[in-house]
Amino acid sequence: MKRLSIRARMTLWYTGILAATVLVLGGVAYGLLMRGLWNEVDSTLERVARAVAQAAQQTEAGFVPPDMNDLLRRFYGPNFANRFYQFLDPRGEIDPRLPRERGAPLAVSPKALKNAEEGYGTFETVQTAGPHPVRVFTFPIVARGRMIKVLQVGTSLEGLLRERHNFLWALATLAPLGLILAGGGGWLLARRVFRPVDQMTQAARRIGAERLAERLEGAEIDDELGRLARTLNEMLARLEAGFAQIRRFSADASHELRTPLTILKGEIEVALRSAREPAEYERVLSSALEEVERMARLVDDLLMLSRADAGALRWEKGPVELDRLVEEVAKQGAVLGRARAVQVSIQGLEPLIAHGDEPRLRQLLLNLVDNAVKYTPEGGRVTLSLRRVTGESAATAPPPAAAFPDPPIPRPLDGAAAEIAVQDTGVGIPAEARVRLFERFYRVDDARSRDAGGTGLGLCIAKTIAEAHGGRIEVESTPGAGSTFTVRLPLAT
Ligand code: ADP
Repeated sequence: MKRLSIRARMTLWYTGILAATVLVLGGVAYGLLMRGLWNEVDSTLERVARAVAQAAQQTEAGFVPPDMNDLLRRFYGPNFANRFYQFLDPRGEIDPRLPRERGAPLAVSPKALKNAEEGYGTFETVQTAGPHPVRVFTFPIVARGRMIKVLQVGTSLEGLLRERHNFLWALATLAPLGLILAGGGGWLLARRVFRPVDQMTQAARRIGAERLAERLEGAEIDDELGRLARTLNEMLARLEAGFAQIRRFSADASHELRTPLTILKGEIEVALRSAREPAEYERVLSSALEEVERMARLVDDLLMLSRADAGALRWEKGPVELDRLVEEVAKQGAVLGRARAVQVSIQGLEPLIAHGDEPRLRQLLLNLVDNAVKYTPEGGRVTLSLRRVTGESAATAPPPAAAFPDPPIPRPLDGAAAEIAVQDTGVGIPAEARVRLFERFYRVDDARSRDAGGTGLGLCIAKTIAEAHGGRIEVESTPGAGSTFTVRLPLAT
């Protein structure tokens, strides 16, 4: 079902509320007005009746005060024409001897007569032959403790009905008019208020993947819409950074794959140009195999990183004896080091157990040891150590917010942790390079890394693995003197 726009709903709501308010106020005003009008009519009638009765008591019994008309005129004012009076004998019969003012005789009800006998006055509304009903007050005239006459005074309700009609007419015309004006005004106001939202929607629609550098206007204003624009702009900035990273990543990845492919192509083309000795073919093929292996490694690394990005990497976690793991990695490192005359040894090993994915943790440590051996000149040393750290030394700064969040970190590193350090006496890393060291494809020395067979992804993978275990990886280095990579992992509970 299509929903009404917020603007329409807002307008409808407050027009509805306004209508209800007008209705209630109109009802109350109507009630008060009618009560006032009825009171006015009744109290005038009562005053007249009492004055006439008083005058009649003072004259001879049975006679009407001679100044009756003057009296009535004084009370009724110019509306005298609409008033009635008549005298009845105690039985309720019209006394033909007595004057009657105007028109057909007013009927007297038995109840009014009975009340009069008991000394009370009675108000009644009666329908006469005329176009309007008449309000009648029946009142006893008592002389010497005896009711000698019944006086009836009446007034047409024409004025009251006219006032009522005028009021209702004004309410019926002004209220809808007011509601239409308020509704229209509200609609325009809502349009004004929502115009920036519409503009924002259009701007956001314009900003596609290709125009992520654009920003929404109005973010500097400190109101609800300004805050919305600011929030959307921040989101756009994150998206822009994310897209830029993806672009850079694809460009870097294709470049990395191109280099070995070009070498492969060149070597094969040269080999095919003329007939060669079997030894020559063997050399070309083993060189080609090297390049293929390099590409396979690169593709494996890329696959792992993109799976980790997508949260699709399966971590098979269990208890890992870190001391045993470090020993094994050191052994493998020693084999690598032997080929380059770099000594790999262990310096301090505490028996510690972490909860993690053993093959991945092994990959992490191998990357570090492999780098240490690669970037340490002949005769250098690489040492591995494992120790337990607690509290302050275990807690490290959180990683900087990434455009695409890293895999969720299971536990913050606040308790006891295992610290594995891989220290070398190699070339070291300049300070400005250290901040970018864990980025994809970042290399301090391009040619050197390629020569050593590096893909530029090793440290990025190491960081991804460490963080997926709730751990951290850090580097300290003195250029020319060596580097230390430290991995901290939470201990198994
Ligand atoms: P690579 O495959 O190029 O080794 P890494 O991500 O493992 O890629 O490392 C990134 C860069 O960091 C390397 O190219 C190198 O310049 C630098 N680096 C890594 N480890 C060390 C180290 N132990 N000593 C000096 N430089 C290092």
